[in-house]
Amino acid sequence: MIERFTAIVMRSTGSWYEVRNAGGGLFKARLRGRLRLGGSRSTNPVVVGDEVECTVDEAGEVWIEQVAPRRNYIIRRSSNLSRESHIIAANIDRAIVVATLFSPATVPEFIDRFLVTCEAYRIPATIVLNKIDLAMSEGMEAAVRHFAELYERAGYRVMPVSALTGQGMDELKELLQGRTTLISGNSGVGKSTLIKAVSPGLDIRIGEISQAHGKGMHTTTFSQIYPLSGGGDIIDTPGIKGFGLVDIGGGELYHYFPDLMRVAPECQYYNCTHTHEPGCAVIRAVESGEISEQRYISYLKMLEEDEKYRK
Ligand code: GDP
Ligand code: ZN
Repeated sequence: MIERFTAIVMRSTGSWYEVRNAGGGLFKARLRGRLRLGGSRSTNPVVVGDEVECTVDEAGEVWIEQVAPRRNYIIRRSSNLSRESHIIAANIDRAIVVATLFSPATVPEFIDRFLVTCEAYRIPATIVLNKIDLAMSEGMEAAVRHFAELYERAGYRVMPVSALTGQGMDELKELLQGRTTLISGNSGVGKSTLIKAVSPGLDIRIGEISQAHGKGMHTTTFSQIYPLSGGGDIIDTPGIKGFGLVDIGGGELYHYFPDLMRVAPECQYYNCTHTHEPGCAVIRAVESGEISEQRYISYLKMLEEDEKYRK
């Protein structure tokens, strides 16, 4: 009799996969040839987070036979010039973007770009504002309040934390518990320190781009899932600077800014781009302060930049 089990894909190296069964056991698995040819336009048929059906053959080899339909997934372009897409991870319950106001200061557009991608893929997003201890010792209380207000007004939860002092860490643990959470953020914001604080047994470098093949050389890095000691999983997507917006046309970009979307129905023109049109409710809301200017600037920048990648 053929042994069968369902599993979650924890890691992919391109030629084999690490999968986890319901009991938490880890196995090295390969892909059936025919699965590779599946009608997908994506460059990778099986990705981290996929729920898969496996069999074990007589030689004890584990084979991935089938991939369950994905609840959601997150993609990026293979390269800026290519129209091919690359799925980074699937079946994500929540995405967190770790940001800092000080050492380093996160560029708002990075956060907004991340949030737009989460909206587009219907993945709930939370902003973790780390190094709150540093910001406070630098007298940046007002900046912290301003940041939190700005994003809370746009519809996002902001969690001020300090991996160093432990402030806000209970809330973060609760957020991660029992869920699969994608973690993102620029290098140096404290992702690894945060995860180690949540799951002390885990010895990881989140998002580190491997330098093993020499400086300046492009190294391929792979997404990976890490189990947390308190339950729940973290998805790390190393080397992903920004998520592509491949499927979002310029005309619909504002759909993924909940704050813009709220007032857009009041625009005079149904096809308003919210850039220059008379009677634009978005521009009005920016002028009145209802929509933050910073968010609006991110919208304009993204609109302009992403034009470059369209035909
Ligand atoms: P990553 O690149 O995002 O994984 O960042 P790391 O976890 O390696 O952290 C980068 C640096 O920031 C390290 O020197 C950490 O000790 C420091 N760091 C991380 N979290 C905090 C924090 O909450 N407060 C302070 N003051 N430093 C922190
Ligand atoms: Zn408008």
